[in-house]
Amino acid sequence: MGKIVELPPELVHQIAAGEVVQRPASALKELVENSLDAGARRIAVQIGEMADELRVSDDGEGMDPEDARLCFRRHATSKVRTLADLDRIGTLGFRGEALAAISAIADVELLTKTAHAPSGYRVRVVGGALAEEGPAPAPDGTSVWARRLFFNTPARRRFLKSAGAERRACVQIATGLAIARPDVALEVRSKDAEHLATPGSGDARDVMAAVLGVELASQMLALEGERGPFRLRGLVAPSRWSRRSRDHLWIVVNGRWVEDRSIAAAVVRGFEGRLDAGRFPVAVLYLEVDPDLVDVNVHPAKWHVRLRDDRDLFALVAASVERALRSEPPPALRPAAG
Ligand code: ADP
Ligand code: MG
Repeated sequence: MGKIVELPPELVHQIAAGEVVQRPASALKELVENSLDAGARRIAVQIGEMADELRVSDDGEGMDPEDARLCFRRHATSKVRTLADLDRIGTLGFRGEALAAISAIADVELLTKTAHAPSGYRVRVVGGALAEEGPAPAPDGTSVWARRLFFNTPARRRFLKSAGAERRACVQIATGLAIARPDVALEVRSKDAEHLATPGSGDARDVMAAVLGVELASQMLALEGERGPFRLRGLVAPSRWSRRSRDHLWIVVNGRWVEDRSIAAAVVRGFEGRLDAGRFPVAVLYLEVDPDLVDVNVHPAKWHVRLRDDRDLFALVAASVERALRSEPPPALRPAAG
């Protein structure tokens, strides 16, 4: 007899789930992205004490009872219908995997209501199995409450860091998503702390003020430029505000927060030697480009995108940063004297 066996479907599913949800912060990313895709204007995130519990509530479009059940199925999505759709993805999600994956490794309760429905609907899925469902009172929008994350995957649970470290990772992810969407008010709390609260004014400087403080936000210089298929806007802090970590550079492509080493290197290039060794820029870049030129289907967690015309992009970013740094800092934001 040969040595190869086909894995049973549940095991295949557990393995796939592990790729989507590595730690609480990755679950949080998926849930908040779902809220953004649902057109939410306000999103509230609550992180449990042990960081194995997350609640994400939004005022988005909600789901009807049938969708509330279907959304937990694998490869069930309202965002992609055809192969051609894959080439022009306008939503953050599209694989239809996140809720299936999260509910495979946690106890998940979904409460949702569309604006036209008379009442809401509740579905609870534990470790991949439907546990309860039925009508329930709910405000318009959706709230997903994931508890006991990784309860049935002890190996994965052992790799989690301390509750504090997992919470910080959650806040960091929420911060990136909030920065990507200045038009959405996003709030993150845990038991007795408010970690982040952005106003949703649409102004990137307001988000920066919530994340980095009013003083630094007021000193950031506006950057702008256009080259080839790319349009760029953003804010960059003068070099004296540079940080010891790379975590204060946010890159947003068509509303999607991404990591991109080449763009990060272009920002550093724009500083033209004004950064000391071991210091990194504080900046946010918003890039707009035809969706045809972006491939977001590179990695299950969608952290990376692939962009064509990389050389135009590098030159645009470096030149725009350089130009911004040569401009005058804006006047300090001081309350009017009285
Ligand atoms: P994807 O986002 O890739 O479609 P998910 O598993 O994250 O896959 O979600 C499945 C489907 O459930 C989504 O396509 C969407 O229709 C619905 N959904 C999930 N979260 C929400 C939400 N917060 N509000 C409204 N609909 C949602
Ligand atoms: Mg999703």
